[in-house]
Amino acid sequence: MAGCGSGGGGGSDGDGSTTTDNTNTTTTTGNNTGTNGTGGGNTTTGDTGTGCDNSYNLSNLRNWKTDYSPEEIKNTIINTNSGLWYNWPANVLVRYRTPIKIYTGGIGYFDEAVNNIEIYTGGLISFQRVSSIDELQQGKGGIAVIHGYSETCGHAYADNIYTDQSSPCRGESLGTSYAVRDNRCSQTDDIGIAVTEHEIMHCLGMTGHFDGFQGAEGIKDNLYTNGTRDGSFGRAVLMNMYQNPHGTTRENLKISSY
Ligand SMILES: [Zn+2]
Repeated sequence: MAGCGSGGGGGSDGDGSTTTDNTNTTTTTGNNTGTNGTGGGNTTTGDTGTGCDNSYNLSNLRNWKTDYSPEEIKNTIINTNSGLWYNWPANVLVRYRTPIKIYTGGIGYFDEAVNNIEIYTGGLISFQRVSSIDELQQGKGGIAVIHGYSETCGHAYADNIYTDQSSPCRGESLGTSYAVRDNRCSQTDDIGIAVTEHEIMHCLGMTGHFDGFQGAEGIKDNLYTNGTRDGSFGRAVLMNMYQNPHGTTRENLKISSY
C-alpha cells in the first residue's frame, strides 16, 4: 500500500498497518479546503470482540471542507446505502468488513485507484490484494475491479450476500462486488482514476448517487484547482459509514468525523 510508487504490483500487505502518507493538518480556522488533507490522527482498533471486528480511524475531517453538517452526512449514508439497507430484513447498515479483499488483475491504473482510497481515508478503508477472482468467492467476498462494457464509462454491481441477521457480524457484505470500467473511456488520467475510485466506492456500500458523488468525483478533494470534481463530501460519507460497524441501525448511526 505504499502508494505513490510505480508499478510493483499488489503485494500481500493486508496486515492492517496504518498508512503514514497523511499530510494531516489540524488547523480548522481556514475556510478553504487546502490540499489533500487526509485526516490521519487517532487510530482505534475494533472493540466488539465478536470475531468480526473492524479497525477504525477516527480522524478529523473538518479541514477538508466546512460546509456540511453531521445530519447531512448521516442522511446521505442512509440514502446511499439504502439499496442494501432497506432490502435487508434487519434494516441496518450493510458494508464490508476491513481489510477488504480486492482484485485488480495487476492493472496499474486500477491499483492506483485502490491505493488512493487507502491513502485518502487514512487507512480506514484497507484492502487485502488477491491475485484471482476465485479468492474473492471464497470466504467473506470482496471487490473485483475489471474491464467491461459500460454505457457510462463505469458502473458497479454485486451479488448481494450478507451475514445472517442472527449473526454477531450481521450486516457484513460477503459477496463479490464488481467495479466495471469501460476501456473505451480514459483510464490513466486524473478523471480516469477518479471514475475507478468512484466505482469502487459504489462497491463499498455507496450504492446511490448524491451531490458530490455523481460519477467522476473520486476519493480526492478538488481534483482541479478550480474546485471542480470535489470528492471531499463523498469521502466524508464513506469514512463515516466505515466508522460505524456493519449492522448499525439508523438510530444508532454515529457521525464521528465531519
Ligand atoms: Zn456512480
